[in-house]
Amino acid sequence: MKFGGTSMAGTERIRRVANIVRAQAARGDQVAVVVSAMAGETDRLVNFCREANPLYDPAEYDVVVASGEQVTSGLLALTLQALGCKARSWLGWQLPIHTIEAHAKARVESIDSDALIASMEAGEIAVIPGFQGLSADNRVTTLGRGGSDTSAVAVAAAIKADRCDIYTDVDGVYTTDPRIVAKAKKQKAVTYEEMLELASVGAKVLQTRSVGLAMKEGVRVQVLSSFIGEGAPPADDLPGTMIVSDEEMDELVEKGLMERQLVTGIAHDKNEAKIILTRVPDRPGAVANIFEPLAAASINVDMIIQNVGRDKGETDVTFTVPQSDLARAQALLEDRRGEIGFNRIITDSKIAKISVVGVGMKSHAGVASSMFRALSDRGINIQAISTSEIKISVMIDEDETELAVRVLHTAYGLDAQD
Ligand code: ADP
Ligand code: ASP
Ligand code: MG
Repeated sequence: MKFGGTSMAGTERIRRVANIVRAQAARGDQVAVVVSAMAGETDRLVNFCREANPLYDPAEYDVVVASGEQVTSGLLALTLQALGCKARSWLGWQLPIHTIEAHAKARVESIDSDALIASMEAGEIAVIPGFQGLSADNRVTTLGRGGSDTSAVAVAAAIKADRCDIYTDVDGVYTTDPRIVAKAKKQKAVTYEEMLELASVGAKVLQTRSVGLAMKEGVRVQVLSSFIGEGAPPADDLPGTMIVSDEEMDELVEKGLMERQLVTGIAHDKNEAKIILTRVPDRPGAVANIFEPLAAASINVDMIIQNVGRDKGETDVTFTVPQSDLARAQALLEDRRGEIGFNRIITDSKIAKISVVGVGMKSHAGVASSMFRALSDRGINIQAISTSEIKISVMIDEDETELAVRVLHTAYGLDAQD
């Protein structure tokens, strides 16, 4: 069972969580619980680091930001004990949860689960702070923002759990962010592949890496709400959204429990920034000269367009990077201006990426063209396009994000009937 930040925000909410955990244990299950820091706490801690030292050392940043989850894991253990349950917390270094050394974006390598399993078998509810781990040189690491989802899936895989229930502040995975589109529909099931793609293009209900790990390890994941009343159905009845394999999805469709959909979901991402390099030489090697230094600095480039060549053998190159890496990317490119040979760098952080995802696209034409038409009918200009087998993304002006998501939700027939 994993509980996110909103579910853990304050002692009153932690008591609700403890009741949900107690009810699950009362069904005769051995339970491990992974918790997030209280909502807003990690942001607060990140700001302290920035204030202390704008060029902070990621290893010390991890020491600071991992503390939010230490607090909530202890508080949940205390609350469970107050309800008469046996409960024990296990910090990342105590298990330990081994990760690679990449501070602030570490990846779980393995979990020593023996002590954990022994404690669960002895009837204790194990409470584990999400987001944190331990590097080979015994320093605290964190798994990147939203990383408690990945902690939960990793723990579930390590203890061979029957299911990993991700409790959050919405009751499942919707066709789009239900906070933006009131008519978004809850999905009974979504395939791993679609969820992976949706998460990677901005549907933050699950951290992308958690979905990849669940897919690789075959962990059964359910997304459901922790804001439930007394008479709510138990998690075992699967009231939320199940992440399923393609085969399971086919079965659900055959049984008439799911409709075969062309588009499963729409996501948006406002965290990218656009860079345009003007008058780059139009010859072999020019683009490699731009992207090699960015790759060497671990800056992820997402959308790329090389505009049609101008005269005199020159062209403009446009691409996106995470907003948080924009200043670094700009500095790196400026340093190599001579080598790359461009005229100007133009940057823009006021962009958004809107993506439409669905496995149905593999076998159906026309999904892209209806996207472009629906946006143009509302006067929304497309600045760049990128696609994968099951996804189409467009870059637009940030101010038009909500409008674009709503328009596409309607255009693909996803609006819930009231
Ligand atoms: P937690 O703190 O529990 O980890 P998050 O805030 O990380 O919760 O994720 C839950 C949020 O994800 C929801 O409140 C919702 O606004 C957002 N969200 C974005 N896309 C979707 C979607 N397709 N379905 C459900 N929720 C979504
Ligand atoms: N507390 C961390 C964050 O806010 C991890 C998480 O909640 O998943 O990013
Ligand atoms: Mg989250």
